[in-house]
Amino acid sequence: MATKYVYFFGSGKAEGKAEMKNLLGGKGANLAEMTNIGLPVPPGFTITTEVCTYYYANKHKYPKTLEKEVLAALGKVEKAMGVKFGDDENPLLVSIRSGARASMPGMMDTILNLGLNDKAVAGLINKTKNERFAYDSYRRFVQMYGDVVLGLKPVHKDDIDPFEEIIEAKKHEKGVTLDTDLTADDLKDLVVRFKAAIKEKTGHDFPENPMTQLWGAIGAVFGSWMNDRAIAYRKLYDIPESWGTAVNVQTMVFGNMGLDSGTGVAFTRDAASGANVFYGEYLMNAQGEDVVAGTRTPLPISKLAQDEPVMYRQLEKIRKTLEKHYRDMMDVEFTIQQGKLYMLQCRVGKRTAFASIRIAVDMVGEKLISDQEALKRIEPDQLNQLLRPIFDLDEKAAAIKAGRLLAKGLNAGPGAACGRVVFNAVDAEAWAKRGEKVILTRIETSPEDIKGMDAAEGILTARGGMTSHAALVARQMGKVCVAGCSELEIDYNTHIMTVKGQSVKEGDWVSIDGTTGEVIAGQVNTKPSEVLQVLIDKTLEPKNAPVYQEFAKIMQWADKYRALKIRTNADQPDQSANAVAFGAEGIGLCRTEHMFFGEGKIGPMREMILADTLEQRKAALGKLLPLQRQDFAGIFEVMNGRPVTIRTIDPPLHEFLPHEEKQQRELASQMGISFEKVKQRIDSLHEFNPMLGFRGCRLGIIYPEITEMQARAIFEAAAETKKKKINVEPEVMIPLVGNIKELQHQAAIVRTVATQVMKEQGVTFKYLVGTMIEIPRGAMTADEIATVAEFFSFGTNDLTQTTLGVSRDDAGRFIKPYVDMDIYPKDPFEVLDRTGVGSLMKIAVEKGRATAPTLKLGICGEHGGDPSSVEFCHMIGLDYVSCSPFRVPIARLAAARAALAYPRLTVKAKKTVVKKRRTK
Ligand code: ADP
Ligand code: MG
Ligand code: MG
Repeated sequence: MATKYVYFFGSGKAEGKAEMKNLLGGKGANLAEMTNIGLPVPPGFTITTEVCTYYYANKHKYPKTLEKEVLAALGKVEKAMGVKFGDDENPLLVSIRSGARASMPGMMDTILNLGLNDKAVAGLINKTKNERFAYDSYRRFVQMYGDVVLGLKPVHKDDIDPFEEIIEAKKHEKGVTLDTDLTADDLKDLVVRFKAAIKEKTGHDFPENPMTQLWGAIGAVFGSWMNDRAIAYRKLYDIPESWGTAVNVQTMVFGNMGLDSGTGVAFTRDAASGANVFYGEYLMNAQGEDVVAGTRTPLPISKLAQDEPVMYRQLEKIRKTLEKHYRDMMDVEFTIQQGKLYMLQCRVGKRTAFASIRIAVDMVGEKLISDQEALKRIEPDQLNQLLRPIFDLDEKAAAIKAGRLLAKGLNAGPGAACGRVVFNAVDAEAWAKRGEKVILTRIETSPEDIKGMDAAEGILTARGGMTSHAALVARQMGKVCVAGCSELEIDYNTHIMTVKGQSVKEGDWVSIDGTTGEVIAGQVNTKPSEVLQVLIDKTLEPKNAPVYQEFAKIMQWADKYRALKIRTNADQPDQSANAVAFGAEGIGLCRTEHMFFGEGKIGPMREMILADTLEQRKAALGKLLPLQRQDFAGIFEVMNGRPVTIRTIDPPLHEFLPHEEKQQRELASQMGISFEKVKQRIDSLHEFNPMLGFRGCRLGIIYPEITEMQARAIFEAAAETKKKKINVEPEVMIPLVGNIKELQHQAAIVRTVATQVMKEQGVTFKYLVGTMIEIPRGAMTADEIATVAEFFSFGTNDLTQTTLGVSRDDAGRFIKPYVDMDIYPKDPFEVLDRTGVGSLMKIAVEKGRATAPTLKLGICGEHGGDPSSVEFCHMIGLDYVSCSPFRVPIARLAAARAALAYPRLTVKAKKTVVKKRRTK
């Protein structure tokens, strides 16, 4: 059978359904679903995404059978409506709407009122007895068609839209300010002027034939899949180009038929705060994009309840039906045509992190979804938003008292942002590139601005409501946004905005509060979020912190399902304490070298490095011992019995020595040796490629006394802690092992010291000796290494460097281009390269566990806090991931989501497994 390319919906039945998003796109699939559940949807049909794919694979041609299918579906629509497409007397008018699998709000183009021409407009007048409406529809159609299909658009970033320019000129001539003040004749004249402008500037005639119009529009929608802003948007949200878009052709309904008509958009709950209230905006006597375009500021839906109670009750009922059916917060578009309600779109609504969490938690409470479902719905990175700073309230109050409050707009994207004003997206991008913090300030934003919005700290607009483009996109990006701040008078030409007689120039600082809508001149300091105030600063009681409470619930559910334990990378007691507050269950990586830079330690460290003899070196190490012991004791105490993995010294020694001659001279005099001697020693430590040089366990093997000192510091600290009746479980980790003999050598030292210390101190404590797996040979010989190591921790930073043959510190020049060119799907230092590095990890897990089934496995590279990498670690059966303290909540959630989605690798033990490890 030939492939079916067209799916009809209408008269209570649709050929598609919600599950068919891949084929029908999100919009088409949900139009079908709404039709099937009995909601009032104007009939139409969807041309599948496969046609888009075909179109691009076949030099912009369609499949042969498409035309026939389109005509057949159009026939069904005509039958359902009892009117004909292309009829002059009583024309069927349609909209042509794009719709990809993932929603891309406003990214691609829509054309309304298609089918109108000079004859049909007369028919429409005759039928509706409403000349103004007919010409309003016609001029909108010519405008959209001229823009989208025939390409009459602004050319320069400061230009205004050529059609808007004509409208403004007309209004000026007539001495009116509102579009609605233009008469039928004015609109009729606009149609003529639009067509003339199209002809003059593009050379194209406006097509009068409806069938030509239809195919032109279909082609333009497929064409728009490859326009710049769609490409930029896909890049930003990881939407593959191969998905393609569908095209929906749908019977027009008219919100611009008079004061009993209107159009609106709504969220079934508040998309900014997540509160369970109907949230939306509408305009009477308006069509299509009017509500979101920001040209007229729309009314809140609560006003509809007063003005049109019947319509409102119907909508409220649909709201409930939709939430029950989809079990999620939905975003809908509706139109009222002369007192009759139509649904034009629904999709799962975009929301802030705040709203996402609140809605998920509430819906569990309302028994709409399970706690597992709630976890699946919150992206781990969204938690970042909850940890973001808010304004210091005192400072903000002071600023306001000092008269710095410029204006108040809508609180469209929560959070606090402070930056310098720029007036267009191109500048926002350029300024941000040079490291400036900017607030993108626009009359209204449009999809073209997407990259600038991404680059800005926050977004401020003069027009548009809570569902305007700016608000929608900002919330999705997690940007701070104040929208519809109508007091701002923005002049794009002079790059100045005026508000209450004050002028704010490009480059001036402003602070915007996306939680309250306030816009304040100058800089206002920020302070920690509610979650941080409760957990870290302990300045807020949980019971007074609703956002924190929701956060805590999510964490509690996450902990219920995750298989991975979450540890942290920390090398100071305060960092460790923060991590524990965030839920860390241990330390996965304590880097001892950071300690050597601390108070009083760098001196003896340098002495140790510059020492000529073993005696001198031991003397210097003797000074370091008590200092390190103290560091470890502090951490053990804070960790209170949780496991702590301590890595022995790792970086090349020259990193500890001064690079400037002045400091080298100072060092020489401090040590009582000659400058030449210091210089000579530093020169001799120089390496061409230190990353692959004298570092890691190689140091401890050539200078065993260093490992000995570190082991002693660790175990003495453990003994000391134990004596305070605090439990302690050190895990000593030897870095950069590629050969079992390296580990044997170092493990022997560590174990000997442990035995000595226990004897000396008269206490016993548990401890482990293990290794990092961070060079390929270590992974490939993991079966051997596991006979000695009691744990492996994947050092994926080095493992990525050594597997890819890429030095992270030198990769800056090509990594980004590589990602842009899709050679690397993501920066491999941020998101684990599963195919390459991941394969080595899997080999190491399999070989290691086959030899030693109880081998403890973890990861301590940067990747430990990246959700995708956490997912992979779950899949290959690691015991824990370790990440920086502030990423601990993210890792907890990512681990739970991974557990709900994927099974874990299990390894069968070999016949002869090690029970007792060899230490010699
Ligand atoms: P987007 O994907 O950018 O939201 P849409 O296809 O939803 O684009 O259409 C843009 C606007 O036109 C929306 O406000 C929508 O409700 C309106 N619209 C689309 N089709 C129709 C129609 N058949 N009748 C009335 N309004 C329509
Ligand atoms: Mg839409
Ligand atoms: Mg390393």
